[in-house]
Amino acid sequence: MRILIVEDELFLARLIETALKRAGFDSVIMVEGDKALELGRAEVFDAIVLDLSLPGMDGIEVLRHLRDSKVFTPVLVLTARGEVAERIKGLYSGADDYLAKPCDMDEVVARVHALIRRAASRAGVFTVGELTLDPLTRSASRSGQRLDLTSREFMLLETLARSAGTPLTRTQILERVFGYRFQPQTNIVEVHIKNLRRKVDMRFETPLIQTVMKVGYVLQNVPA
Ligand code: CA
Repeated sequence: MRILIVEDELFLARLIETALKRAGFDSVIMVEGDKALELGRAEVFDAIVLDLSLPGMDGIEVLRHLRDSKVFTPVLVLTARGEVAERIKGLYSGADDYLAKPCDMDEVVARVHALIRRAASRAGVFTVGELTLDPLTRSASRSGQRLDLTSREFMLLETLARSAGTPLTRTQILERVFGYRFQPQTNIVEVHIKNLRRKVDMRFETPLIQTVMKVGYVLQNVPA
């Protein structure tokens, strides 16, 4: 799971990053509003923690532009204490939740969890052929047989399922599933694809995880 933290108080941003890390989330910190908007449009995040007063572009504008660009990632807005008007403006601009500063880190993590759960239940269950994937319970099965996946394998399968039928490049998979900690030349994607294939495809006639030559991988229920 990847979270975009948009906060110009770097100390606070790092605190949030650390708290989320402990809960198993990878984060990317952006300080400037306009840069955050660019990244939020270009890449997929599971949730966004958004401060309102930012250099470059304020949080409300970032949020409006994201929603205008059809990016519906759940957003937790951080407001300074007493900024009631700001808070209301935030909710009208498409924020999913807000938290007043100074905020408790456990609360930030709990809210982010809740937002992701809510978004997952809205998204519902993914079905590709006889494969079903439930982001809410983080369970997957094929032809009714439960697949025993590690959390990283589940993330990889979910990432492929969200783009079912559309190939993802190795770099897209690396960024969405593993974050930025890995060198581009790592073989971690290939290793996880191999393990996932063993669990998802081995006992079945039609391989769902397919290699697209010179592109990457695609999850689909038609022969490659
Ligand atoms: Ca600020």
